[in-house]
Amino acid sequence: MELHTFQQLMKELYFPRDVQRGVEKTFMWLTEEVGELGRAIRTQDEEGIREEMADILAWLCSLGNILDVNIEEAALGKYDEACPRCGKIPCECPLQ
Ligand SMILES: [Zn+2]
Repeated sequence: MELHTFQQLMKELYFPRDVQRGVEKTFMWLTEEVGELGRAIRTQDEEGIREEMADILAWLCSLGNILDVNIEEAALGKYDEACPRCGKIPCECPLQ
């Protein structure tokens, strides 16, 4: 399944609820899931890491649907040819 298909599936599953919840609360849930991923990484919970990554992607897609952003297009537009900062593959930017 491609990312835009996954985002469309999230729309079919959740769009009316996502719209009702709104941008701010949906964004809050996304950040909550990012925090949970942090905990799963710290505790080396491999199953948890997979689950939280799935949740983060699902919430990001929900947010994209509410804001009418096609995440696949946005990502490909930014990262499809090379690192957007240094223009190289692989990236040669200083580590942050
Ligand atoms: Zn770079």
